[in-house]
Amino acid sequence: MLLIQNADVYAPRPLGVQSLLVGGSQVLWIGPGRELPGLPAALAAVAEVIDLDGDRLIPGLIDGHVHVTGGGGEAGFRTRVPPVPLSRFTTAGVTTVVGLLGTDDVARGPRELLATLYALREEGLNAYGYTGGYHVPPATLTGSARGDLVFVDALVGIGEVAISDHRSSQPTFPELLRLAADAHVAGLMTDKAGVLHLHLGDGPRGLELVRRALAESELPARVWNPTHVNRRRALFDEAVALARAGCTVDLTAFPVADGEDAYSAAEGLVRYAASGAPPERVTVSSDAGGCLPCFDPDGRVCRMDVGSAGALLATLRDVLARGMPLEAALPAFTSNPARLLRLSRKGVVAAGADADLVALDATGAARTVIIRGQVQLRDGAVVRRGTFET
Ligand SMILES: [Zn+2]
Repeated sequence: MLLIQNADVYAPRPLGVQSLLVGGSQVLWIGPGRELPGLPAALAAVAEVIDLDGDRLIPGLIDGHVHVTGGGGEAGFRTRVPPVPLSRFTTAGVTTVVGLLGTDDVARGPRELLATLYALREEGLNAYGYTGGYHVPPATLTGSARGDLVFVDALVGIGEVAISDHRSSQPTFPELLRLAADAHVAGLMTDKAGVLHLHLGDGPRGLELVRRALAESELPARVWNPTHVNRRRALFDEAVALARAGCTVDLTAFPVADGEDAYSAAEGLVRYAASGAPPERVTVSSDAGGCLPCFDPDGRVCRMDVGSAGALLATLRDVLARGMPLEAALPAFTSNPARLLRLSRKGVVAAGADADLVALDATGAARTVIIRGQVQLRDGAVVRRGTFET
């Protein structure tokens, strides 16, 4: 049991200075300290007290796009990125990840993905995944994407399926519709997210296939979940229009150079808010562990970088520096992905919600991180490390 005191809570709504009682994996009670219910002596004796001294307390960040196994491999086998260790997430305030496969869904597959997700779960992180990868037909565990979602608890959607990209399998409109339908129906059967998470490349076709699907099929707009939409400015405008039509769109926190035809995730979030599109239909993810390559006109890698789990918190700080209030910025990192992923007890600080909590210091860095009631980071020091981290 934990007793958290003097927390300036953003739930994401600002609640002011509160105390919280955490029991097991949940927040049991939240309120002003003077109203704290009297605890039986035996419980009070074992409760660990964490005094946050006025630090801001926010819901744990939900990173909806992470190559937990490591991604890459686009410039030879030596460029396969290694798995991302636990403390990269916890020190960056990330308490929940959605793992997935990208370009390489051959040398890597859903078995490795699932084993990695389960390892992160054993280490204390909330970890879910998407079945498939860039290519169609998708790599699956049970023989069908729908079967994977129905029978494997941790798998909540299909992705990242690549469109408008030279690395895609050039999926046709009917192929994409079939996949989205599989995701949707499996979502209905299991009450899981049931989304088709779409990797968008640089290609000028952009989100054309998704617009066509909204116009021609019965599938609800929420099933279509495009990511990397800030990689081209015109693509961003297409994505904002789709958000107005009911899709949740995802900004990637990759580095953006001056003069590049792209928006940083922070600039994208500020522009999204200014557009007046529904505030609940935008999320930010890190692409952590993924390779961030640049290609020459022949489709060969000329430069590459690796996505960082710390990119979410860095983006949040950047958004705040641009003048957006914390309560307006937070939903894209917390309650919005929770809603999309149908994780009803996550993304908020509330009694009955999972105790996934992050205390920020004055600079906006994670000082204390709690995942399902377990302290992972305390006063900036890592309490629990991944099995092979030294
Ligand atoms: Zn991608």
